[in-house]
Amino acid sequence: MQMKTKILLIYTGGTIGMEKDYETQSLKPLDFDNLLGHIPELKLIDSEIKYTSFEKPIDSSDIGPEHWIRLARIIEQNYTDYDGFVILHGTDTMAYSASMLSFMLDGLKKPVIFTGSQLPVGDLRTDAKENLITSIHFASLWGDGRPLVREVCIYFEYRLLRANRTTKINAENFDAFASPNYPDLGESGIRLDLRKDLLWDCDDASEFSVNTLLDTRLGLMKIFPGMTRAYIEAQLNAPGIRVLIIEAFGSGNIFTYNWLNELLKRKAGEGLIFVINTQCAGGMVSIGQYETSGIFKEIRAVNGYDLTTEASVAKTIYLLGQGSTGEEFRKAYETNLRGEMTKA
Ligand code: ASP
Repeated sequence: MQMKTKILLIYTGGTIGMEKDYETQSLKPLDFDNLLGHIPELKLIDSEIKYTSFEKPIDSSDIGPEHWIRLARIIEQNYTDYDGFVILHGTDTMAYSASMLSFMLDGLKKPVIFTGSQLPVGDLRTDAKENLITSIHFASLWGDGRPLVREVCIYFEYRLLRANRTTKINAENFDAFASPNYPDLGESGIRLDLRKDLLWDCDDASEFSVNTLLDTRLGLMKIFPGMTRAYIEAQLNAPGIRVLIIEAFGSGNIFTYNWLNELLKRKAGEGLIFVINTQCAGGMVSIGQYETSGIFKEIRAVNGYDLTTEASVAKTIYLLGQGSTGEEFRKAYETNLRGEMTKA
């Protein structure tokens, strides 16, 4: 560890800082001072911790592009002054925000660790303290004169995960996140165990910069047997969308109705980009492996390989924001930009 690392703690809201409203009995976000008051242990940590907060903390269901931009700007403005960043965020959309930030922060060479909790910090059985304190410890790990973690992560329930590989899998268990297609980057036991061989190896020569141009003109369609033609047509004809991510069966398969093939060809001809993901929790898309994915080959759909839904949405918003279209979009999408995909 460096002499004394400087960590910026950013509070956006989420269960970690919530309290039950007396009248409605629903959980709602508290202000930051209240949250910090519950964790006096922060003063004992051997890092210099500074705090900042969204003016109005929110439930992460309300997170959107303007919040991602705000987070990216906070990191940009404080990048040289701090060794690492810990973001307190609701768990519901944490995997989306963390994936998004992984694309927005280009040439990142410091840790940005998202965490939160399943029980509010004021609850006797809360998971908030361990999650927060260990996130700060992981963000403070130092070696060879630099932070050891140099990417965006989620730390939750003793596991450090690559942000853009995560998905929320449980609304009740403390172990709320999975990283189905990439191993854990670290584990908290008696010691903090960091799998250095798995960390993202960023290019030392690249300058840190922040991309805040985001474009959300995309759709996401999960298919199921028996889907009506009217519903599919409505999704494919949604006005203004530039990209439609299809969560297909297995290795990227879809039902073979003639009308659907014709519709896919027509929309692709009009310039709509199709990205094919699998709706399986693990494994990857392999277009052409079965006859039932042949249409995707024909319309030159983009292969989403083993991207999570969250990373797939984030990557699309990021690439559309960069003005990427057509072949350029496909090439960039099928490239592993931040460790988010495994390519065969
Ligand atoms: N609804 C909460 C949120 O995402 C859930 C949580 O924080 O765990 O903000």
